[in-house]
Amino acid sequence: MHFRPRYTGLIERYRDRLPIHDDTRIISLGEGNTPLIRLSNIPRVIGKEVDIYVKYEGLNPTGSFKDRGMTMAVTKAVEAGSRAIICASTGNTSAAAAAYAARAGITAFVLIPEGKIAMGKLAQAMMHGSIVLQIRGNFDAGMQLVKDVAEQAPVTIVNSINPFRLQGQKTAAFEIVEELGRAPDYHCLPVGNAGNITAHWIGYCEYSSASGDHVTAACSYCNGHCAYAGGAVVGNRPKMIGYQAAGSAPFMRGAMVDNPETVATAIRIGHPQSWEQAWKVKEESGGWFDECSDEEILAAQKLLAEKEGVFCEPASATSLAGALRDVKNGKIPEGSSIVCTLTGHGLKDPDTAIQQSGGNVHTIDASLDAVRKAILDGMA
Ligand SMILES: *Cc1c(COP(=O)(O)O)cnc(C)c1O
Repeated sequence: MHFRPRYTGLIERYRDRLPIHDDTRIISLGEGNTPLIRLSNIPRVIGKEVDIYVKYEGLNPTGSFKDRGMTMAVTKAVEAGSRAIICASTGNTSAAAAAYAARAGITAFVLIPEGKIAMGKLAQAMMHGSIVLQIRGNFDAGMQLVKDVAEQAPVTIVNSINPFRLQGQKTAAFEIVEELGRAPDYHCLPVGNAGNITAHWIGYCEYSSASGDHVTAACSYCNGHCAYAGGAVVGNRPKMIGYQAAGSAPFMRGAMVDNPETVATAIRIGHPQSWEQAWKVKEESGGWFDECSDEEILAAQKLLAEKEGVFCEPASATSLAGALRDVKNGKIPEGSSIVCTLTGHGLKDPDTAIQQSGGNVHTIDASLDAVRKAILDGMA
């Protein structure tokens, strides 16, 4: 019998690449180490020779990639002696903040837009004992309030403007390179505040430089929080592609959007906090931004669930929706390797799923005849 050391989260795993001290008390729920699933049916459906992988971040402890950032942000907040954290959230950040604060034994205040967060996320924030402040305003308004109040109250902001968030989130890129043996040709993400696309680029840059060092070009993202500096690029890096929801696409408009609207509530953000960084990621990587309609997003979510058995939330499907379109139109050439980040789990938003599934739900009599008929009909 072979023993493997118990997996205890991404800070332990990548300790030498994160701003952590030997005696830092690590606040972890075993986040990271998520599956990289190779799509086996969808490339056939679209008739293209491409290697598409989905990084299923919905399998993190609270069901989204936010856990990667939150383990770092809360660990560092506790290390600094903070007794409370605060965030504005479209839902997943509040779920992660609530859970990690519970784990750490500190208080979490979460500001969410009233009526605009998915049911699962609200349930998480409530169950983990955070103090939920539903504001009559959208995410962007909540974000401004959080920034203002943190100047006057003893609370640590754990939105992605907290640099430790991106440090934790960069580890997703490490995992991908380690599993594929190289970086993919293209990495597609849904973009809201653009923290995650920035964090992935930091990760790829660190990994691609000699001896795992940070490349100089990317260092400016880290506000001095990276453990590495200097070093030449030796490995490949992907083109980074950021897809937004059409009703909430400031990067496509080239300007902030004041009243963003989309079914993909996790990316219903009109004033991205990592605006400058994301443009730099696009330039440096040779990638692009594009937008997907709500219909395209929901179609990709359903396709993935039906053809591959992978259930992600609407915002997450934006990466796949965009990637499939760019594969079909040849912008992403055949023969490419592509990773799409699936940022959150489908169970986060059961209402949207049930509404859009069209539902093969049949109400029948509890009789053998009725069931037999249903099977014959279903196989026809
Ligand atoms: C937070 C979130 C995003 C957007 O990530 P950013 O770093 O804000 O760009 C996308 N999808 C889901 C499910 C999220 O929770």
